[in-house]
Amino acid sequence: MPVPVSQMVTVGSYLLRQRLAGVERYPLVLMLEPLYQCNLACAGCGKIQYPKHVLQRRLSVEECLAAVDSCPAPVVSIPGGEPLLHPEIVEIVRGLVQRRKYIYLCTNALLLEEKLHLFEPTKYLSFSVHLDGQEKEHDESVCREGTYAKAVSAIRKALERGFRVTTNTTLFDGADPERTAEFFDQAMEMGIEGMMVSPGYAYEKAPDQEHFLARERTVQLFRRIFAAGRGGRQWRFNQSPLFLEFLTGTRDYECTPWGMPAYSVFGWQKPCYLLQEGYARSYDDLLESTDWSKYGRASGNPACRDCMVHSGFEASSVAEGFSSWKGFAAMVRATLFGPRVPAPGDAPERAVGPAEVDEAPTRGWSSSASSEALRTAFDYRGDVTLTLDDGEKLEGYVSDVRSDSLRLLQKGRDVARILDPARVVHVELSGRDSAIDPRWEAWKERRAAERA
Ligand code: SF4
Repeated sequence: MPVPVSQMVTVGSYLLRQRLAGVERYPLVLMLEPLYQCNLACAGCGKIQYPKHVLQRRLSVEECLAAVDSCPAPVVSIPGGEPLLHPEIVEIVRGLVQRRKYIYLCTNALLLEEKLHLFEPTKYLSFSVHLDGQEKEHDESVCREGTYAKAVSAIRKALERGFRVTTNTTLFDGADPERTAEFFDQAMEMGIEGMMVSPGYAYEKAPDQEHFLARERTVQLFRRIFAAGRGGRQWRFNQSPLFLEFLTGTRDYECTPWGMPAYSVFGWQKPCYLLQEGYARSYDDLLESTDWSKYGRASGNPACRDCMVHSGFEASSVAEGFSSWKGFAAMVRATLFGPRVPAPGDAPERAVGPAEVDEAPTRGWSSSASSEALRTAFDYRGDVTLTLDDGEKLEGYVSDVRSDSLRLLQKGRDVARILDPARVVHVELSGRDSAIDPRWEAWKERRAAERA
């Protein structure tokens, strides 16, 4: 069974209550990011490119639990950053267990073995270990050798100790269907409870912009993986089988970004876990102040065009399973007999990239204040210097800009400073752009040499 019965009952009854109450937008999984710092720097990750003083920030236990109490999602996923680096992760997990939330603690598992004794096995806690394939593919994906071996060792130890263990896998263009199918078989042999798979999202700030999957290539890749796995009936997934049918093009969904809201050191991320269009101050503010019509495929938003990521579409598939008898029957059928997967066809020639984005302003750029200049400061992944109307200069990271307020995280100050944007007279991108990292330049050169 990929998910305990108690979890299925909890989630199912929650969804039915939402439907019966006629709630239009409700969360399924809260993505709680207590820090952005990580002990890896993966090529496809767009989550860790921040100045050092931002990476050192942590959500407190109280802030985490207050966010959880304000959002009714029955499941809490803890990604990051690497959650095991948080000094109070045990207290955060304990608080969530007391609230009977089902927790997926997403970890690269580098610290799992040494920290395992700090946790108690419970049906509410699952370690969701990041594994992007077999040893060669995973170590390449996370840009560090030895990571796969360490993660697998930690998985075995956690299973021996009676913990729930799942895996989470992100697939990029160039993934080998045969090797991926073998990896899924190996994960089953390890005895993990279930797998979560998703295509990668083309984060604007991720170092590797060439290997994100366009939609049709995503569909063909997943069809080929299931074909290589002889239909994949031997595989257990801890995600909706209808989402797997979505990934293989059997059914289509519009995204429901409110289904997996994300809360981090910046606040409630708008509109989804992937895009950063600003931050709401509370969960209710997120629901009310986000213009949801600007997102999803039907909106024509180019950032959404190729997205098939689980944080946008898994909730859509789960909602379908509880929206009608037809949807329920499809979910039961796919759960019992596996997802329906059409035979693969020809994959289109080209993936998404390289990204076609305008040249962004770089360090040293400056301008008198305007709404565009403040937006540039918000988009920049480094510190900026703002000059106020009284001549005061403030240096820090701009984590949110609205028409009536600007949020600045200053070095050495725990509490964000909220400014009136009208007081800013000059903007300069003064700090290093953390989206540009010399390690990535070396990595890209190595990849180019391998391709040549
Ligand atoms: S389509 Fe993807 S990127 Fe766009 S809002 Fe939905 S989840 Fe976010």
